[in-house]
This record gives sequence, C-alpha cells and structure tokens, in this order.
Amino acid sequence: SHEQETEPSIFTRIVRREIPATIVYESETVIAFHDIAPKAPVHLLVVPKTQQYANVVELAAGDPGLLADVVAVGRSLAEDPSLMKEFPLGQFRLIFNTGEAVGQTVFHVHAHVMAGNLQEGSLA
Ligand code: 5GP
Repeated sequence: SHEQETEPSIFTRIVRREIPATIVYESETVIAFHDIAPKAPVHLLVVPKTQQYANVVELAAGDPGLLADVVAVGRSLAEDPSLMKEFPLGQFRLIFNTGEAVGQTVFHVHAHVMAGNLQEGSLA
C-alpha cells in the first residue's frame, strides 16, 4: 500500500518557500503573511502549517489547541503597530471562509486578519 498523495496547497508552497510571500510571523505550527490581493487596508492570513484541515470546522474538531494558536497569532499581529498602520491596536476582524459558496478558494484552513473597511463587495 502507499500513502495518499495530496497536492501541496498554495499555502504549503509558501511554508516550503517554493513561492514568495511577505511573511510576518512563523512558529513550528503556524505561519502568517500578507494577503496577495488585500481586500482591506490591513489584510493578513494566519495559517496552520499542516494542510490536513480544509476549514475552521475541521480544525476546531481536529485540533482545537491549534485553532486557539491561530487566534492568538491573529491577536498578536493586530498588536503590532507596523502591521496595523493607523488602526487601533488589538482590534481586528477574524474571518474564516468555510465553503465555496461564501468565497473560500483555498482549502487549507486560514484566518483572514483584517482592519479598516473592507473593499466594496468583499466579504474577505
Ligand atoms: P479564501 O477566499 O479561500 O478564504 O481566501 C484565500 C485568500 O488567499 C485570498 O484572500 C487570496 O487573495 C489569498 N491568496 C491566494 N493565493 C495567494 C498567494 O499565493 N499568496 C498570498 N500571499 N495570498 C494568496
């Protein structure tokens, strides 16, 4: 028998430095970087390095501690004045799109950390 081969997600390729990103935080288990197509003045992504969870529901069920880590990283990024521009520190949107119908395009769980007004028509 053989292991199931799963294509590396775009975010796994960022973790592996196969594609560039503006990384702002990294630990053993979590990475954070600027969204390539920001929909708000501050728009970061916080991503568990493992791609085994497609969305926040799976992550919450499978590894709630890792979900808590993602939230804590979002909070700490939002405390960083160099990332938050003129926006109040520690105050931020945390968005997890769950499902194609609401705009999820990358099925490797990620939190959008946003501040400032969303671009018109954008949910994240
Ligand atoms: P979703 O709609 O799945 O919740 O969000 C995926 C997000 O990933 C989008 O906001 C999109 O702009 C961002 N994104 C997609 N590909 C890349 C990439 O290669 N690099 C970075 N930094 N962000 C990406």
